[in-house]
Amino acid sequence: MINAMPVEGIVPDSAAETPADLVIRNGRVHTQDPARPAAAALAVREGRIVAVGDDQDMAPFVGTRTRVVDALNRRIIPGLNDSHLHVIRGGLNYLLELRWDGVPSLRMALWMLREQAGRTPQGQWVRVVGGWTGEQFAERRLPTVSELNAAAPDTPVFVLHLYQSAILNRAAVRAIGFTKDSVAPPGGQIVRNHAGEPTGVLLAAPAATLLYAALAKGPKLAEDDQLGSTRHFLYELNRFGLTSAIDAGGGFQNFPENYGAVMRLAEQGLLTMRIAYHLFPQTPGQELDDLRRWIGSVRPGDGDEWLRLNGAGENLAWSPADFENFTEPRPLRPDKADRELEAAVRLLVENDWGFRLHATYEETISANLDVFEKVSPKLGVPWFFDHAETVSEASLDRIAAMGGNLSIQNRMMFQGSAFRDRYGAARAAGAPPVRQMLDRGLITAAGTDATRVSSYNPWLSLEWLVTGRTIGGTELMDPQCRVDRETALRMYTAAGAGLTGEAGVKGVLKAGCYADLAVLSDDFFSVPEDGISHIESLLTVVGGRIVYAAGEFEGLAPPQPAIQPSWSPVAFFGGYHRTAPGVRQAQAVMEAAAESEEHRQWRAVRGFARGRTTEDEIFDSCFVL
Ligand SMILES: [Zn+2]
Repeated sequence: MINAMPVEGIVPDSAAETPADLVIRNGRVHTQDPARPAAAALAVREGRIVAVGDDQDMAPFVGTRTRVVDALNRRIIPGLNDSHLHVIRGGLNYLLELRWDGVPSLRMALWMLREQAGRTPQGQWVRVVGGWTGEQFAERRLPTVSELNAAAPDTPVFVLHLYQSAILNRAAVRAIGFTKDSVAPPGGQIVRNHAGEPTGVLLAAPAATLLYAALAKGPKLAEDDQLGSTRHFLYELNRFGLTSAIDAGGGFQNFPENYGAVMRLAEQGLLTMRIAYHLFPQTPGQELDDLRRWIGSVRPGDGDEWLRLNGAGENLAWSPADFENFTEPRPLRPDKADRELEAAVRLLVENDWGFRLHATYEETISANLDVFEKVSPKLGVPWFFDHAETVSEASLDRIAAMGGNLSIQNRMMFQGSAFRDRYGAARAAGAPPVRQMLDRGLITAAGTDATRVSSYNPWLSLEWLVTGRTIGGTELMDPQCRVDRETALRMYTAAGAGLTGEAGVKGVLKAGCYADLAVLSDDFFSVPEDGISHIESLLTVVGGRIVYAAGEFEGLAPPQPAIQPSWSPVAFFGGYHRTAPGVRQAQAVMEAAAESEEHRQWRAVRGFARGRTTEDEIFDSCFVL
């Protein structure tokens, strides 16, 4: 009789009164529950954990319809929570974007671009929008306009590099309509040749408005495709064990117009991540109008555990926003910033709306705190600063006194070299001062600020928290500022739950909490430090549902819808570059072979080596060794 068959060593009990939907056993569970920090198994019913313990403790929960998964002794962690991700906007565009995230060489990046340009239909663009920097490439540099022109002679190509620059090929300059007479908005620069024509390079000097406005000129996905794009993006995030994010709004992300896809997915029960979102006023000078409109129509807390409004931000007004372009001097705070911020914060506090606020530099933070104190000595609503790379200890004390918290990201991993060149190694060593934040008991939640600057891969950020190294391997952060792996993981799980009022149910694996977890490819607690960024999830569970499964678990997750449009770069290259060791090795060999062939040709041209088909060439000393 099938009911009596043992399932993974546990005999299903047809008399089990309240069987679990899912039991995961034979794992190394890091629960983050001080009452039981380690376990081997857990049981899930109706989206929540009902038991955590050893394998044998699960027996009463295994009924005939319980799915039992053997975790194969792998590490299991609470699902990751990126506390600063532009996930809603990123989802709308994901299937339109070629991702260079994690790509090891510029040669490969340009090859991808060439391939993609070849299949991109007329009228569409190839766009690479953040998540990479030249430091990650073996060549340690950015592509040039002429390389983009060679890779894509006719298809518009837009490559966004961090918060610093965009590189456009000739076809993109034409498609956008940049000419000799084009004028850059304040804070932006169109680089020109000796004849005054735009070269294709756009600079944030220091504001990226010009870059983003140019990007916004490109075609968008049709509404139905935006839905599919969002699903595929969430699935891509599930691939790394993310189960929650706190959305930071963003430019061109207006409410409610640009929230249709995520709202529809929530209604249909198709979200595979929990999203708490913030509303971001779009138009300089009209911020209060936006805030008043929202206060009149929605309330923080609206929604449910899958999609919930969490307040305003990360901009409340445009004028106090500073820009994290470390290749440029710190932007000066306009005179009107205090007045505009005060009006916005006063309106929010009076209406009991919490908020988050973008602030990179200490100068911005202390000025913002002065404004907050004018509104009320204790704001009395939940609020936190985002970024805070150069916040002082005095400001941290004031944040603590005013009931605020912090959300930090690994922007220094991508931009830290530029920061060090401008401000020096000593200041880079303490940016951001993570230890001082934690020592004050402030909630210090981690994240990425993806997708337009950093990559969304949370393991890069976790590696940075532990090692303090840039993506190019430069050690920037002082050992005093770095954190141990347990702390880093709490910052990436429970801390984010603290910023959305979900500390009791999320970020901990214990009975009563959401069944959000990831089974990892490598053990975060024992993998070598430089291996942290190569970790992926093999099994991601959100609300008790298996949403992502790979490796030994492949097939356990429901299939994804087909990628539309079919020419999407994601259909060919996926998202974050796959770094399975075998693939990495093959790539390295391939690239080395290509380099050596180039070198051989160079020598042949100069008469150092003979032609490629003669046997004699093996005597070329460059190739014998
Ligand atoms: Zn920001």
